[in-house]
Amino acid sequence: MTILILVGMAVLVGVLLLYVFELGRSRRLLLKAGNARKALRGSEELFRSIMQNVHAFILLIDRDFVVTRTNYYDITKARKPEGRLARVGDLLRCNNALSAEGGCGTHELCGSCPIRKKIEETFRAKSSFTDLEAILDIRDRRGEVAECDTYVSGEYMEIDDKEGMVITVHDITRLKKAEAELNRAREKAENADRSKSAFLANMSHEIRTPLNAIVGFSELLASASTEEEKTQFLEIVHSNNELLQQLIADILDLSKIEAGTLEFTFSEVDVNQLMFDIEQLFRMRLEDKSAVIQIIRETPPDECVMYTDRNRLQQVVSNFMTNAVKFTDEGSITFGYNRCAEGLYFYVKDTGSGIPEDKVNHIFERFVRVEQNKKGTGLGLAICEMIIRKLGGKIGVESEYGKGSTFWFTLPINGRQIKEQGTEIDGKTNL
Ligand code: ADP
Repeated sequence: MTILILVGMAVLVGVLLLYVFELGRSRRLLLKAGNARKALRGSEELFRSIMQNVHAFILLIDRDFVVTRTNYYDITKARKPEGRLARVGDLLRCNNALSAEGGCGTHELCGSCPIRKKIEETFRAKSSFTDLEAILDIRDRRGEVAECDTYVSGEYMEIDDKEGMVITVHDITRLKKAEAELNRAREKAENADRSKSAFLANMSHEIRTPLNAIVGFSELLASASTEEEKTQFLEIVHSNNELLQQLIADILDLSKIEAGTLEFTFSEVDVNQLMFDIEQLFRMRLEDKSAVIQIIRETPPDECVMYTDRNRLQQVVSNFMTNAVKFTDEGSITFGYNRCAEGLYFYVKDTGSGIPEDKVNHIFERFVRVEQNKKGTGLGLAICEMIIRKLGGKIGVESEYGKGSTFWFTLPINGRQIKEQGTEIDGKTNL
């Protein structure tokens, strides 16, 4: 009996111990499971936060291109369709998917879709692809749809024994734009660099010509044997001196205009008075040509006041007039202005040598000269072109070789807007 009681108690103790042990084990298991759940929740939270904040669309898709999970709706704030899951092309707004009934994968052109092809290939190879460039109509955070340049990447994976893929779509539109702008800026800088070098080479050549003449004939002057020779050499030195001075003045003007430091002084200009003054000046300058060249001023009888830089305006008309006198042996020089859509149209028409057809389009470029035997720098028209452009007008020429030319430019009557675009320092404007 006692033995039976002892055995019974031992069994009871054993069962009790087993119970306590099992209790401990299951508590440990519960704790583990709790920790695992916590960790799962944590990583789920992390995943969700990454999905919501990343600057890219992430699409988790199955073998049929159905999007099982995505941050698309978080980013675009678009409404999730009820009752059906979208496919890749529906979300990335492939035009075919949008226009064809049934959406992505059901249109006949889906077979040639490069993204679909790449995804298919990647599923078959169980691999990945990166940075496939594609143009897609994408919704932005404000819900606006715009055509975007994108990089699409994909990574094959198996989840719960099911094949899937993570697709990432990066909008690189801004990057592309910046890249294009950078390329344009680089090209511009390279062109400017090239033309600066060409300008420098040309300039040194042009300066050397009168300089050599001055040095050479000054030396000859010392050894000139007759008065006649002396006068001739002096004349050459004098005219090359003038040319050199003009060249340097032109070069300074050009570089000032380019650097935006040429000053413009805006004021009200009585155009008829200005044209009258120019006429008087050139009548005096005609000298020996006055018998063979007639100067005709054509100005409307009524007063015309414009708002611009008087000196620059005079500089351009005078440059045209100087050239007309220089390149006309006989006939007439007619100059004047009319009103036109842009404001005022100024012209200087001559019956001179004209410009050959192949040169006429280059005549406003620096150092372009048709006749090398006439004095000149080849910079005057380039300066005129820049001045007129700065003052908000257009410039041009019509010419017939052997018959004459008409140089013209337009200017706004009211240049106040142009002035406002510049920087004003001490009443002068840098444009
Ligand atoms: P420059 O007269 O000092 O050479 P420009 O820039 O004023 O420089 O003129 C450039 C060239 O354009 C001249 O050398 C000349 O060949 C041509 N040209 C300019 N005006 C006329 C004109 N009225 N008739 C014929 N050719 C002209």
